[in-house]
Amino acid sequence: MKTYLSKKASSVSPYTAGEQPKDKKYIKLNTNENPYPPSPKAKAEYDSFAFSDLKLYPDPFAKKLREAIAGAEGVDAENVFCGNGSDEILALCFPAFFDADGKGAAFADITYSFYPVFCDFFGIKKNIVPLEDDFTLSFEKLKGTAAQGVLIANPNAPTGIGIPLPELEAFIAASDRIVILDEAYMPFFGQTAVPLTKKYDNVLVVKTFSKGYSLAGIRCGYAIGCRALIEGLERMRDCFNSYPVDSVCQAVCAAAISDTEYYREKNALVVSERARLSIELEKSGFKVLPSSSNFVFASHQKKSGKEIYEGLKERGVLVRWFNKPKIDSFVRITVGSKEENDGLLNALSDILRF
Ligand code: PMP
Repeated sequence: MKTYLSKKASSVSPYTAGEQPKDKKYIKLNTNENPYPPSPKAKAEYDSFAFSDLKLYPDPFAKKLREAIAGAEGVDAENVFCGNGSDEILALCFPAFFDADGKGAAFADITYSFYPVFCDFFGIKKNIVPLEDDFTLSFEKLKGTAAQGVLIANPNAPTGIGIPLPELEAFIAASDRIVILDEAYMPFFGQTAVPLTKKYDNVLVVKTFSKGYSLAGIRCGYAIGCRALIEGLERMRDCFNSYPVDSVCQAVCAAAISDTEYYREKNALVVSERARLSIELEKSGFKVLPSSSNFVFASHQKKSGKEIYEGLKERGVLVRWFNKPKIDSFVRITVGSKEENDGLLNALSDILRF
């Protein structure tokens, strides 16, 4: 049959998002969502939103939201860019900061699997840097690539490993390339590089409301950097969609980011559950990588990653398993509420009995 697809549409390998099965109610620990609801201030804003205002386009500059983000992050609003989830911002980074047929983008072999998808889509060369045996990133190896710029997820996904800020700063200070820091999981680590954006013009920090602000469903992310980098993103945005952040989202996220106390408390609960979960998993024979995120990456001595993933799914618990070299013995488990984590641990002890 004749196909009307372009060569690109027929040949790309798109990103695979975590599964969202609807056949029954699962304990859902596979897409790193926050187990707690968004803040009451965000809910009040949502509830009081004037529905009839939806007839108008949203503010294309997301002024109030950018001001709220700027206030919370200690930067100026002109240094903030907002997008429809941090995925969209990361996507815009590729045409904004990398030349097709240039020296390409450098990133780890085990990191957020959207980066290679974006490279392929925009025709940007991939400089893949293998992680060390302990899953840490070697800055020496990163420096050794000829790439035009570098992407680092900090904390990394799916390993959960965080890089201390002084190590990152040393790398950024010594580099004349753009360093894009994907801080999706920073609320569970607390060593943001945002202050470095005032000192260095080669660093862009990308953050999200999806994880630390319990707002994955509303799709909002933001980037912070010097004015020239933000302008690059604005130019790319206006080549695709001038209104990526809708009005409801702008209002709700501005209220959420102002509710520092609420999120500090809830994210501290996630961090303490992470410690408990890691200890319990180790007791039952798992090797657990040191996590600075809202998930743990664990492999079992006796059962394969696939067996654990499938056994848990049969028992109504969803986790993520990546069928990829180096990490196929692991499963990535989102830290849930205490009850969800107990459900996971019970299902695991059932699987490990055999
Ligand atoms: N970066 C990393 C490392 C992630 O794991 C995710 C979530 N899949 C994102 C960015 C994107 O998050 P969102 O688009 O929901 O902001």
